[in-house]
Amino acid sequence: MDWLELKPEGLFCVPGAFYIDPLQPVAHAVITHGHSDHARPGHELVTGTPETLAIMRLRMGEGRAGHTQQALGYGEVISIGDVQVWLAPAGHVLGSAQVVMEYRGQRAVVSGDYKRAPDPTCVPFEVVPCDLFVTEATFGLPVFRLPDPAHEIAKLLHDVRLFPERTHVVGCYALGKCQRLIALLREGGYHAPLWLHGALLPMCKLYEGFGVPLGNCVLQRLQRRVRCAEALFLRLHRPLQTAGRVGCQTLLSVWHQGGCMSARERKRVGSNSLS
Ligand SMILES: [Zn+2]
Repeated sequence: MDWLELKPEGLFCVPGAFYIDPLQPVAHAVITHGHSDHARPGHELVTGTPETLAIMRLRMGEGRAGHTQQALGYGEVISIGDVQVWLAPAGHVLGSAQVVMEYRGQRAVVSGDYKRAPDPTCVPFEVVPCDLFVTEATFGLPVFRLPDPAHEIAKLLHDVRLFPERTHVVGCYALGKCQRLIALLREGGYHAPLWLHGALLPMCKLYEGFGVPLGNCVLQRLQRRVRCAEALFLRLHRPLQTAGRVGCQTLLSVWHQGGCMSARERKRVGSNSLS
């Protein structure tokens, strides 16, 4: 398909004169979702779902999240140059989208990150028949075997019931993983307040603003950790950092969301995991 080109700035749609998730500031960027390896600051015009645009404003600030923002709901078709463009759900994080492009009878889909497993915090992945599918396969290697989320949540909640005087710490990314984890905990029957690091709370509020209920989430600073015993305390840091930074007597288990770790890495860290 000769109308998509890989340039130093990123993947370029020639007849539409726009980039998808470009690496550098460009005149027109179509953004698949709000993670920082896809949504970067400094573009002139940014097209994305309303949720992704809001996430970009929250993370980058109004001035850096695109000089002009163009919101595009799922399935809403627009013409960019000679190309018909719409966004289809990717099931990855709130607002995540596949970019669908049609030009001269050909259809190309650029997936960005996507997930086919159920996730109550975002619209499910939608299969779009196409002539060309451009995808990422970060965890496509067989070495990445992710445990059943409900089973891992049940283990965590069993720990909490078994040792109510201890604080349980979960390391997770601020966008997507954190909110999915909270939703899974609620589905698992845990409805007590969850104590969140300050870097996690604004994104949770944004999710709730888009109609994703997360229950009672409370700001918690590390120096007040002793008072949060019997609570689940979510932290931003990754597992090794979490273990090193917390290291307090109230800590029973360091859990992490292990989507980016192999079994060998998890064994080395010595922690439990959530996919
Ligand atoms: Zn992502």
